[in-house]
Amino acid sequence: MRKLIDKLAFAHSLEIGEYLEIIKNATAADAAYLAEKACAEKEKHYGKEVFIRGLIEVSNICKNDCYYCGIRKSNQNCERYRLSEDDILECCREGYELGFRTFVMQGGEDAYFTDERLVSIITKIKQNYPDCAVTLSLGERSAESYKQLKAAGADRYLLRHETATKEHYTKLHPENLSWEKRMECLRNLRAFGYQVGCGFMVGSPYQTGEMLARELKFIEEFKPDMCGIGPFIPHKDTCFRDSAAGSVDMTCLLLSMIRLIHPTVLLPATTALGTLSENGRERGIMSGANVVMPNLSPASVRKKYMLYDNKLSDGAESAQSLEALKKRIASIGCTVSINRGDVKKST
Ligand code: SAM
Repeated sequence: MRKLIDKLAFAHSLEIGEYLEIIKNATAADAAYLAEKACAEKEKHYGKEVFIRGLIEVSNICKNDCYYCGIRKSNQNCERYRLSEDDILECCREGYELGFRTFVMQGGEDAYFTDERLVSIITKIKQNYPDCAVTLSLGERSAESYKQLKAAGADRYLLRHETATKEHYTKLHPENLSWEKRMECLRNLRAFGYQVGCGFMVGSPYQTGEMLARELKFIEEFKPDMCGIGPFIPHKDTCFRDSAAGSVDMTCLLLSMIRLIHPTVLLPATTALGTLSENGRERGIMSGANVVMPNLSPASVRKKYMLYDNKLSDGAESAQSLEALKKRIASIGCTVSINRGDVKKST
């Protein structure tokens, strides 16, 4: 096992079978060894800095019906909301004062957010805060739309591919959503010059070890600028309400492996990780993650963006508690960066 880990740290690549060997058989001591190598690699490129992103959840209205997601369109118990342009600009104003230099607009696929409306919002954010990055996470849109939003000033786009295995995708989504389309969106985003983030849930229903090994191969080949992975957590109003949640240990192991596969990737310790375990965020950082995304949405809507049961939105997860977050990050020997935190291109 140590030899395999050393090989991964040296070559940044393994055969699928070798990834699987680590996924299936790594002991806690092996995971600690991986994490140590991953953090050394991270520090080579980014030092001890952890980047912060202000997450603005712009709408929980969604035309899609993903089987795992709490804001899926068929969930009648979800109290719907959307933020106005003024609301979003107010979040940015507050976030800027708090020290955020990246704003992430995330939401369901809500037809209200036309290109015209988004162009107006992005343009205003960029005018008001030219030193800030704008990240979008608004799902699948046309190539033309991605192009326009980039031209308006958007810098980055997060679109989790959800699974690198097509057959698995069809078990997590209704028929009108296709794996090919999701992958095509990622390719389009890259072609238009965004810093692109993909990602997947760890322990989603029907996921096997082989599928996780394929996730790693996909990341090795696609080389995303960002990669969002977090444990699957069931939501009471979805098809998968009785499914088990993903594991914090497995998520941390995968974070370490992804860091070694792609040393300069921007890797968040996700809210889902913090939701499943009190010190999940810190464990993620100690496994190789270097980004956290505190919630900057207005307090009145935070509980409504409930992707899974008990999703955290307060405490260190809240942008207003940045000081508490800084302390927690300092307690593991890292510092919160005040920079935009763009991806470093590998040499
Ligand atoms: N609509 C956009 C999209 O499709 O990319 C962005 C919002 S979507 C709710 C953000 C991410 O939440 C998804 O990509 C998915 O991986 C994650 N998510 C949804 N339900 C989840 C669950 N039950 N457990 C963990 N993560 C979940």
